[in-house]
Amino acid sequence: MQLTRELLLLPLLYLLALALPGAVGGSGRFWHLTDLHWDPGYEAAAAAGRPCPSGGGRAGPAGPWGSYLCDSPRRLLRSAARAMRHRLAAPDFVLWTGDDTPHVPNEELGEEKVLHIIANLTSLIKETFPGTKVYAAMGNHDFHPKNQFPGKEHRIYKQTAELWRPWLSDASLPLFRAGAFYSEKLPGPGMRGRMVVLNTNLYYDQDNETAGEEDPGGQFQWLEETLTNASRADEMVYILGHVPPGFFEKKRGKPWFRRDFNERYLGIVQKHHSVIAAQFFGHHHTDSFRMFYSPTGTPINVMFLAPGVTPWKTTLPGVSNGANNPAIRVVSYDQDTLQVLDMVTYYLNLTRANKMASAGQEEFPEWEEEYRLTEAFQVPDGSARSMQTVLQRLSRDPHYLQLYYEFNSARYDLEPCQQECRVDHLCAIREVDYIKYDECVKTNSSASAASSVWLLVFCMFLGFLSPQRVL
Ligand SMILES: [Zn+2]
Ligand SMILES: [Zn+2]
Repeated sequence: MQLTRELLLLPLLYLLALALPGAVGGSGRFWHLTDLHWDPGYEAAAAAGRPCPSGGGRAGPAGPWGSYLCDSPRRLLRSAARAMRHRLAAPDFVLWTGDDTPHVPNEELGEEKVLHIIANLTSLIKETFPGTKVYAAMGNHDFHPKNQFPGKEHRIYKQTAELWRPWLSDASLPLFRAGAFYSEKLPGPGMRGRMVVLNTNLYYDQDNETAGEEDPGGQFQWLEETLTNASRADEMVYILGHVPPGFFEKKRGKPWFRRDFNERYLGIVQKHHSVIAAQFFGHHHTDSFRMFYSPTGTPINVMFLAPGVTPWKTTLPGVSNGANNPAIRVVSYDQDTLQVLDMVTYYLNLTRANKMASAGQEEFPEWEEEYRLTEAFQVPDGSARSMQTVLQRLSRDPHYLQLYYEFNSARYDLEPCQQECRVDHLCAIREVDYIKYDECVKTNSSASAASSVWLLVFCMFLGFLSPQRVL
């Protein structure tokens, strides 16, 4: 009798579970890969004993899996594709945040060559994940001349839209042709998630096409409308893009966006944060994150910057030893709320891979698990609140800061991160706003190590500094 009643209750409980918000979605996983920067001339140059085309004349050893001075050889990209199939062959979807071409002068490329490289990497990703939805954003290198993206129709947008047609809905096609941004509902039954893919290259200060424009391509207005509609439809959104707002953590005072564009972007995130579950960007080639706060200082959003596949050492003046190990990342998320649950980053120790190859070992080197976000930083998930806890740990505990710093270059640079390095990273993570970033740097870099501690204690005692502004 008792058993029968329970059996009768089961379907009822199931229906109740379906009706409850948040009860439908399980957890899912997706890949985020970025900055592949294929150097098609790598192998031929290595065979001829010449520096690779993307090395900018910097001569160094060109190993079979790549070089820290160069962009990715084909073999490295094939190895990354193989590692992704091995680690997670059937993700819910893939995020691909651009920069496909090598770091070479414009004269060595051209519209056709750029499109050929985009087509080639598109095929590689399609073959790696057949039938999987890919959300692809253009990087500042995916244009000719590089960085010069117009806020209106262009042949490169149209051709790229054709290449990505299998991943785009009918509604996205005309939008992409007109400005290379679009939005798509996430796949899967019952999903209330939406992907918003931006062309933030339009906001890059190197883009002469959009200088002086208020809203290039009408993208800001479109973004506001899209987020407003998402809120009305009870959807949650991921924002995807290449060039991020805020500052480069490896060079003091180095932003990418023009000032007005940075302000507008920040304003939109503050206004619509309740529908934005997280933001995923690339461009830095380094592994970091950015916090977004309400005007009263509450953490309201987080942007994850994924490390690049290319190991290329940046030529940006003022950055010392700015290379990285090739890396890729899996994000776990709640399929209903889109809350980021965890992230696992995999990397290839390029030095070791090349050494083993020269010793005649291993057809394909292993991409090792580098770290799991929740384990490494002892947080429950990747929410804005948890990432604020991570930031606090980095600020207060040199052990965590060093851990973060080694992940920042996917374990390429293992030097200690102290003083200036510490301020550069912590202020870049905390302050996407230009004025607040400057204040953060000024407040925290005026005095060095020992003396600053006493100055800090003194100032806090007198109430001159609010404690939360001190890193
Ligand atoms: Zn790049
Ligand atoms: Zn870039």
